[in-house]
Amino acid sequence: MEKATLQELLESRLKDIFSIEIAEASPQELFLALANVVKSCYANDWSQTRKNLLVEQQKQAYYFSIEFLPGKLLKSNLLNLGLLDTAEELFEELSFSLDEVAEVEKDMALGNGGLGRLASCFMDSLASLGLPGNGNGIRYNYGLFKQKFVDGHQVELPDDWLRAGNVWEVRKESKAVDIQYGGEVYLIEDENGRLRPERHGGYVWRAVPYDTGMVGYQNDMINTLRLWSVEVPAAEEANYATIESRRSLEDLTAVLYPDDSNERGKKTRLMQEYFFVSAGIQSIVRYYLKLNHPLTMMSEKIAIHINDTHPALCVSELMRLLLDDHDLPWEQAWAITVKVMSYTNHTIMAEALEKWPIDLFKEVIPRNYQIIEEIDRRYLEEYAEVHEAALLNRTRIIIDGQVHMAHLAIIGSHSVNGVAKLHSDLLKSVVLHDFYLIFPERFNNKTNGIAQRRWMQLANQPLSKVLDTTIGKSWRHNPQDLQLLKNYQEDPTVLQRLADAKLTNKQALAEYIQQTTGIEVDPTAIFDVQIKRLHAYKRQLLNVMHILKLYFDLKDDPQAPIHPRVFIFGAKAAPSYHYAKAIIKVINEVANLINHDPTINDKLKVVFLENYNVTLAERIIPAADVSEQISLASKEASGTSNMKLMLNGAVTIATLDGANIEIRDAIGDENIAIFGLTEEEVYAYYAQQNYSAYAFYEEDPVLQRVVNAFIDGTIPNIEREGREVFDSLLKYNDEYFLLKDFKSYCDAQYRVDLAYKDQQRWQAISLMNIANAGKFSADYTVQNYADDIWQIEPLYAHVKEPNSASLT
Ligand SMILES: *Cc1c(COP(=O)(O)O)cnc(C)c1O
Repeated sequence: MEKATLQELLESRLKDIFSIEIAEASPQELFLALANVVKSCYANDWSQTRKNLLVEQQKQAYYFSIEFLPGKLLKSNLLNLGLLDTAEELFEELSFSLDEVAEVEKDMALGNGGLGRLASCFMDSLASLGLPGNGNGIRYNYGLFKQKFVDGHQVELPDDWLRAGNVWEVRKESKAVDIQYGGEVYLIEDENGRLRPERHGGYVWRAVPYDTGMVGYQNDMINTLRLWSVEVPAAEEANYATIESRRSLEDLTAVLYPDDSNERGKKTRLMQEYFFVSAGIQSIVRYYLKLNHPLTMMSEKIAIHINDTHPALCVSELMRLLLDDHDLPWEQAWAITVKVMSYTNHTIMAEALEKWPIDLFKEVIPRNYQIIEEIDRRYLEEYAEVHEAALLNRTRIIIDGQVHMAHLAIIGSHSVNGVAKLHSDLLKSVVLHDFYLIFPERFNNKTNGIAQRRWMQLANQPLSKVLDTTIGKSWRHNPQDLQLLKNYQEDPTVLQRLADAKLTNKQALAEYIQQTTGIEVDPTAIFDVQIKRLHAYKRQLLNVMHILKLYFDLKDDPQAPIHPRVFIFGAKAAPSYHYAKAIIKVINEVANLINHDPTINDKLKVVFLENYNVTLAERIIPAADVSEQISLASKEASGTSNMKLMLNGAVTIATLDGANIEIRDAIGDENIAIFGLTEEEVYAYYAQQNYSAYAFYEEDPVLQRVVNAFIDGTIPNIEREGREVFDSLLKYNDEYFLLKDFKSYCDAQYRVDLAYKDQQRWQAISLMNIANAGKFSADYTVQNYADDIWQIEPLYAHVKEPNSASLT
């Protein structure tokens, strides 16, 4: 599209909506008008995609996830429609900045962290690969809380993201479905001797879908992200006359639960899970029936993916529809269900493995509970001849009065995957070993990936331009072509261009830091970044301990040859996660101490940016020199910020955990700083139960001084939090082995400092990170899901598959 055309469309939209000219428009008005123009640009392709799918009757995948974390969509849609450059030029010509206009959009944060962001990266890749794949989730009225620091403490504020409306969504009243909760279900024999459920009591809530177009990268493909919102069913208006009765209903899709790993026993959460599962499955079955094929062939047209255990009820809900509404015999219904379903496990953390008390299940979804009981009974019966009772009793769904959601998902799916090689191996050998004995053929690995378009093309335009001029533009379609950059490892001109792009990004971030925190940072310092949810296993505290060590080194010798460093944190803690909040307070007070200590002479700065989200990630990542991926080995299933940072040329300091291992394999030991216990060593400690944090503390005076600093008054204002940290390390024997890994972490940090001082070498390492990051594009991950698990194919013949020839 020509610039002039875009301008005309924008002008006419501003007239239509606001009756104003461009010159009078505020950024808010420009945003709304431009977003509407963008929407109209893909409207036709969206309906065409739907029509073609119906005509071609191609198999479609449905990705069920209780979280999606898309961030802002304006620039992403412009990019994928091929309009970003045009829009940027136009706005410049009109003396506006597109960035300022894009800034107006609310960051759509219907997720906590990695899991939700993965779902959104997959949406981008599915559409960009031309694959028919749709998202199914919940339209929360409030997204993840907004984080503020007050006196160094985290304070949570509501994220009222829908207040000014959401331009991208389309309400689909006609596609609403009813969701049944509660009551009692009796099985009554009908005239054919078949048991039929008869419901007494209970209530019905209405699920209304809001669809958002997922725009493919310059390929005319528009998939759908369908998010469900609760409403009072028309027929029941009278029963919801009071504000009280409405409130409990409206609570259902009001808020996202803000904990990224455990939501214990909350009735509303279970109701949420059933809500988007039942709504999604009903709408899929309704669509399938339009195709006029027998239900027994469903797996030829439909693949349903269970993203973590929250949508595990997909199994029992599809069974319910097939049995109760469509009269299929159990065996047929079960065969269909298992063929249609697949499941991704995201964690080995025990507290995150969902279980629900059966009383709650019976109260909220009695018919599903009956079906789960029957699945469980038949499971025991079917495998009784092949496996020992003890094994079956450990793997059955209902154990000790609780429904195990992972067990339901595994037993009801034909594929179970982990999210990095190490994680998938641990599932087979430890976490889900019992299931592996029973269903070895179901287990496979799909290493996570990231949408290269958002995390490079959008977030890092300076670097993208350097790549274009150096290796051409093919990497924009085939991320593996980033490999071409390897030819320039020793080319001083290219290395300098990369360094210049990095400096530009660091200057922009420095300005943001100055504006939001008042802290001055020097863009020539090392920008050392740890951005992720605050969690004990991710070990932000280990990072703090190293910062304290450097602080003491400089106190002892202000001339110590340490290259200036800015430590940048971004992290939200779950509101109920007391210890994580204590760490936030400690980091903020350490920052206060160091940033204001004149003897440090600006050699160290600590910056904790508020409200880490996708938009902030897009600011920080392009400016990072060092990527902190320091979880205790075996605890981080994959990680994806490690991939985003690598792609942007940051050098990783990492444990051999999750996808860090695959990153190391891709770039070689010489281009990454590895440290710490291995997963085998961690498990050996567990087996021998011989870890003594105190022993490490006792024998290392440097470590002693650092640990003591939490309680000896060195760091002001952390009396309570410092004690909690100190106790977790010594009194409670340091669950995540920080004291053990401290020394090797400091050594690795020292190697990083040395490498940075040799700028030529540093730039070459950075280049190698960029050049090898292509294989972590979600395009490849999704292609593997499509080939191995979902068996779906591109809708349009002209859509190119990513060039996978060079993939090993
Ligand atoms: C990528 C991303 C994450 C995941 O980070 P990890 O370090 O892999 O845990 C979390 N939050 C946001 C906003 C992200 O963009």
